[in-house]
Amino acid sequence: MLDESIKNQLKSTFANLTQPVVLRLNTGEGKKDAELNALAQALAELSDLIVVEQAQDADVRQPHMALQGQDEAARISFAGVPMGHEFTSLIMAILHTGGHPLKLEPEVIAQVQAIEGEFHFETYISLSCQNCPDVVQALNMLAAINPAIRHVMIDGSVFQDEVEAREVMAVPSVYLNGEVFARGRISLADIVKRIDSGAAKKEAERLSQKDPFDLLVLGGGPAGAAAAIYAARKGLRTGIATERFGGQVLDTVGIENFISVKHTEGPKLVAHLEEHVRDYDVDIMSNQLGSKVIPPTQEGGLVTVELDNGAALQSRTLVVATGARWRNMDVPGEKDYTGKGVAYCPHCDGPLFKGKKVAVIGGGNSGIEAAIDLAGIAAHVTVLEFDATLRADDVLQKKVRSLPNVEVFTQAQTTEVQGNGDKVTGLLYIDRASGEAKSLTLDGIFVQIGLIPNTGFLEGTLALSDRGEIEIDAHGQTNVPGVFAAGDATTVPYKQIVIAMGAGSTAALGAFDYMIRTPLVQNTAAA
Ligand code: FAD
Repeated sequence: MLDESIKNQLKSTFANLTQPVVLRLNTGEGKKDAELNALAQALAELSDLIVVEQAQDADVRQPHMALQGQDEAARISFAGVPMGHEFTSLIMAILHTGGHPLKLEPEVIAQVQAIEGEFHFETYISLSCQNCPDVVQALNMLAAINPAIRHVMIDGSVFQDEVEAREVMAVPSVYLNGEVFARGRISLADIVKRIDSGAAKKEAERLSQKDPFDLLVLGGGPAGAAAAIYAARKGLRTGIATERFGGQVLDTVGIENFISVKHTEGPKLVAHLEEHVRDYDVDIMSNQLGSKVIPPTQEGGLVTVELDNGAALQSRTLVVATGARWRNMDVPGEKDYTGKGVAYCPHCDGPLFKGKKVAVIGGGNSGIEAAIDLAGIAAHVTVLEFDATLRADDVLQKKVRSLPNVEVFTQAQTTEVQGNGDKVTGLLYIDRASGEAKSLTLDGIFVQIGLIPNTGFLEGTLALSDRGEIEIDAHGQTNVPGVFAAGDATTVPYKQIVIAMGAGSTAALGAFDYMIRTPLVQNTAAA
């Protein structure tokens, strides 16, 4: 189950344990039960402080492994076998249960310790979901800090009946005390905000007290990270305020065009990006959503960025690098059934549609890649493309047409997502060739029709193109002096990682140039 090199790595990792950890198993006779037993035994062989205990606890899923620390009840557990993307979650949970300190800011730990109440979280995941470990690890850390918080990770593919009964159609799906708490990625800070009512106000007060930056970056994808590194290397007081660090790269599985690296994976590249940014004196403010940009009242004045929690940050220059997000179909039913059969991430949610009928909307590269991927999981895949021809590369088109369980319809305009109130049951479309209205019976719909820039909050402040992209010049300068922009949020042609990084660097150098030519005028930010 674990090869020699992983065992060796884990042996040295487990040397950080300072207290015993009991792996409390509730298993039956099935294949997955045997796998979980084997995994627990293999881990126990790597440290004297890890002990396996067999149990027959009532009201516990099987197979199930709870991590019990010294003199305390288990608060972190795994239902299913936490391999794949969740293996790291298991190892981190063992370390934290065994006394290894958490890598969190002391004030965050203190805040979590002070939260009162009873919180029982359950998270449904798939082992191929890249976003799920972040959520599982965040909840495990909260449970490790505060005895009032318990968390169980549940592999949806092992507990199919439960998934069907609760109609879980997107992962991660988080339940709190039996009620839906979140669907999709949610950060530790966001979870804390929601269970600690005073958190947002405290956070806003803390951020608003920061001194003005020389260069503030809004958005922490490749463009924002590159801008911050270039700015910090110029000795500028630099900050990044971002909804999440990593941007779209976090949702990317394989990357083979990041020049000089033949192959990497999204989360791995993001980890390297973050490590690189943290190597410099950059103030990273994660989980912060910019809601308004207030330009300086005169050139050389401070620009203000308001955040959705009410905080206001000030800076001599700003680089907007807020990227892009999945485009919606904007048809009736889509919003109502998002997370209930309408999905946007085939890698994350595909495994929940094992043996089911799904459609992919969009015949570009991402749509056809999704169809090929889903064909291996779902019983049947229908691709609906609006145009008369598919736009995907030839090689992908050939592959998809060779698959016996994939059907491709062109000139198909999706008009409505249909459901029974709880989940998707099908869709309606118009065959544009004949004008005929048609329907499909489906369990899931994967929307793959491109991206839209995250610039809605800038309307009326910065000049935007008719596609909502921020207009910039060759230096990354927008129409507002001191405000620069980079990456997928802008009019730059071709939306790619290396292009976003180049554009971020250009914008930071452009901002530096602006600063050395424009004397600072104090106290000129608009109220
Ligand atoms: P983003 O990566 O979108 O980052 C923007 C960041 O800003 C995000 O972190 C977001 O949370 C944050 N943000 C948004 N709004 C706000 C706000 N109001 N306030 C604060 N923060 C905000 N490119 C390649 O080169 N190779 C590939 O193989 C590849 N594969 C891809 C696969 C997929 C599935 C997708 C979706 C994209 C892929 N791309 C690939 C494209 C590439 O990921 C993007 O071009 C690149 O990430 C753009 O970087 P960015 O920094 O401009 O924006």
